[in-house]
Amino acid sequence: MAAVGPAFSTLSLPPATLANLQQLGYDTMTPIQAASLPIALQGKDLIAQAQTGSGKTAAFALALLAKLNPRWFAVQSLVLCPTRELADQVTVEIRRLARAEENIKVVTLCGGIALRGQRASLEHGAHIVVGTPGRIMDHLERGYLNLESLNTLVLDEADRMLDMGFFDDIATVVKQVPKDRQTLLFSATYPEGIEKLARQFMREPVQIKVAAQQAQGQIEQRFYEVTRANRLETVALLLNHFRPVSTLAFCNTKQQCKDLVTYLQEQGFSALALYGELEQRERDQVLAQFANRSCSVLVATDVASRGLDITQLEAVINVDITPDAEVHVHRIGRTGRAGESGLALSLASMNEMGFVGKIEQYQSRPSVWHKLDELTPTGKGPLLPPMVTLQILGGRKEKIRPGDVLGALTGAEGGVAYSREQIGKIQVTEFCTFVAVGRDVAQAACAKLNAGKIKGKSAKVRLMQGD
Ligand code: AMP
Repeated sequence: MAAVGPAFSTLSLPPATLANLQQLGYDTMTPIQAASLPIALQGKDLIAQAQTGSGKTAAFALALLAKLNPRWFAVQSLVLCPTRELADQVTVEIRRLARAEENIKVVTLCGGIALRGQRASLEHGAHIVVGTPGRIMDHLERGYLNLESLNTLVLDEADRMLDMGFFDDIATVVKQVPKDRQTLLFSATYPEGIEKLARQFMREPVQIKVAAQQAQGQIEQRFYEVTRANRLETVALLLNHFRPVSTLAFCNTKQQCKDLVTYLQEQGFSALALYGELEQRERDQVLAQFANRSCSVLVATDVASRGLDITQLEAVINVDITPDAEVHVHRIGRTGRAGESGLALSLASMNEMGFVGKIEQYQSRPSVWHKLDELTPTGKGPLLPPMVTLQILGGRKEKIRPGDVLGALTGAEGGVAYSREQIGKIQVTEFCTFVAVGRDVAQAACAKLNAGKIKGKSAKVRLMQGD
């Protein structure tokens, strides 16, 4: 991430922390870090508006680490997150930032994973706990988790936790932590519930708002006028015309997501939906396939897509215009990252023109309209993703590592030789493993894995065809 703010050395951080930041390549602060760290490091409560990608994790992690005593074996910080994915990301980032100190233990407590292992991790001593509200409550009720020594409470993506109905769970957890703690709340938006959280659980919080990053020059924005009748088919036209490898398509409602995915699948596209009520297991499968480039289009609502960290995204399509101009800027900011160019394509019907006007005002630039009849198929046949995902039954529980899968794929028997491009991401999750392989070798790779062994056991492998 290109951060151009003040240097971290302007903060009162220990030299070891500063050296570690330098090693991580964090030279200067991002805007949210520059605005929040001086306040957080003074021990004040904070409400900060920030989204994924802004560097918000380091903004709270550095503050909680600054107060942490590694020689005191008690949970001193708790970070509440809406989802397991976010909790995992936050844990990774805290561990990286904590490297400056010896032996800081970070434990992740999320649903969908056996309580027993988590309990054991807590018994071995934890300084920092990161987790989802429901599971944290479970541990509290069973007496596995003690928060009496807590000095920092972080509510990460608080708006999303509220969306997911976690208010009561958060309240229950907060009642069990000391009153004189510091509370840091991070949220992309400020729905009403945030104020309620602040009133009930925070002490004179300082509010920080960093202007949303304006669309960068490398994002090309195009608007198309559509009608109710041709909106979904226009998405297909755009995909066939621009042929992006990975596209994130935003809809305003879950129903629209479902309708669009059904339509695109009927048209032969590889498309999957991501919306609020998916089970974690389903969400993991969808995200694995999209991130490893074996699904062309991810159709999502704003809430569901928050926290997604996908770097290579050629296009964003606003299937519905959002009524909130700031959300529009967040949506299109998903593409054109890390210096790559990106396309942001927005469909608007006559009755959405008011929202387009708000977006123009917010971005202080007029929208550029293109005509639908410019959209001509390239004649290259259906748009297919370059990779296909193989799902192997067995994951971390079976102690499978990416190297085991690679070995089974490339082993001498079976007669398939792969080029570098033909084997993509290998992602090991709790119970299964996802492997991306080139479309042209997918059948052969699946057969080879099924015939062979992984970690000494016969493997059970299936091709995931956009399901
Ligand atoms: P986050 O918004 O916390 O998810 O962070 C987004 C990414 O930016 C993460 O990969 C961080 O490791 C990285 N990052 C955070 N702060 C900085 C910084 N000051 N300089 C460079 N990279 C950073």
